[in-house]
Amino acid sequence: MPELEQSRLLRTELPGPRSAELMRRKQAFVSPGVGTTMPVFAARAAGGIVEDVDGNRFIDLGSGIAVTTVGSSAPRVVEAVRQQVEDFTHTCFMITPYESYVAVAEALARLTPGDGEKRSALFNSGSEAVENAVKIARSYTGRDAVVVFDHAYHGRTNLTMAMTAKVAPYKHGFGPFAGEVYRAPMSYPMRDGLDGPAAARRAISIIETQVGAGNLAAVVIEPIQGEGGFIVPADGFLPALAAWCAANGVLFVADEVQSGFGRTGTMFAIEAEGVIADLVVSAKGIAGGLPLSAVTGRAEIMDAVHPGGLGGTYGGNPLACAAALAVIETIEADGLLERARQIETLVLKRLNELKDADPRIGDVRGRGAMLAAEFVDPATGEPDAALAKAVATAAHQRGVITLTCGTWGNVIRFLPPLSISDELLSEGLDLVAAGLKEH
Ligand SMILES: *Cc1c(COP(=O)(O)O)cnc(C)c1O
Repeated sequence: MPELEQSRLLRTELPGPRSAELMRRKQAFVSPGVGTTMPVFAARAAGGIVEDVDGNRFIDLGSGIAVTTVGSSAPRVVEAVRQQVEDFTHTCFMITPYESYVAVAEALARLTPGDGEKRSALFNSGSEAVENAVKIARSYTGRDAVVVFDHAYHGRTNLTMAMTAKVAPYKHGFGPFAGEVYRAPMSYPMRDGLDGPAAARRAISIIETQVGAGNLAAVVIEPIQGEGGFIVPADGFLPALAAWCAANGVLFVADEVQSGFGRTGTMFAIEAEGVIADLVVSAKGIAGGLPLSAVTGRAEIMDAVHPGGLGGTYGGNPLACAAALAVIETIEADGLLERARQIETLVLKRLNELKDADPRIGDVRGRGAMLAAEFVDPATGEPDAALAKAVATAAHQRGVITLTCGTWGNVIRFLPPLSISDELLSEGLDLVAAGLKEH
């Protein structure tokens, strides 16, 4: 196979004939509960490009939802997985363990914020890791309650549905949900106008009066919220919450499933605020597209769980662990944290220019290569989901993969792979801007 050319190309109408045929098969055989953002089927992806089965090439501003941070089929990942698949595909770590799992845990101990002995447990999905973080927190504290926040997204399994805020499409009709999950107000600077300490006081007051510190095992929070709208809490919000947790014997759990693994220009997003979480949850970007997730925490916390209490058939699968080690090597050897910060500079500049020229962009925010624009009615500040959708769809038709998010669906998020070139990134943003102009 020749290398995938790093340029946008529209060869057919979208969807092209092959994608249209595959979509008919999907409709016949795949549950409609599983939707798709774009009507085209992927054939190859690398760098900043996804090529479809009709030979159209799309600029990738989504990374498969923040997963292919090092790029799709990144060379070191391909080589590591190829080697591993020849050696063995699975033994189950709980039966005959293997080195790569241990090496991933060693790397996580080094890479997560905070000194001292740390341990990890590996799982398959972000949701599964969040659930296990709650299990570990309950086991360590002997308490039941979990606090999450407005706009939070933690997954789609039963416990994590309870933790996720937005009802449609994630929860509608799927209850009853797990108990002992309580929701506190998030810091949302654009909409609440509160500084970080004031927003933290508001949240803590609700936690103290409606849950009770003595009942609370963990506060679980995304340092920058993902699906909920790329909401960056005001400075000081996370440190104040973490300090309150420490003073009250409550574990502070950072759900870094979307914000972690180099995405925001540091290995983990909480580093920007100097916060050390008791437990860090990793997934998405950790293994370049292979399913892997992790919970990492101080030894005394992780050791509270009885032997055999954590695990699963596939957790820490050897192919995924080999990929994760290659991802970490790629981030470090290729200077990808610095690359994420360069992307921030380039994209924020463009988005702020758009915002200055168009009052329908109510806010531009994010960090590193996790950036977003929130669309509003300029007269009222009310969310404008129709506009966000129209702009995203216009970008799709021009050959750019963009994703929306937000409680009201009125946010376009930019999650390019760190392997994208400046040229492709600029072209992608130009095309988004052109779509905005037309609506
Ligand atoms: C995607 C996501 C999850 C769930 O991860 P899955 O791998 O889809 O189960 C949990 N938390 C956050 C912050 C996420 O972005």
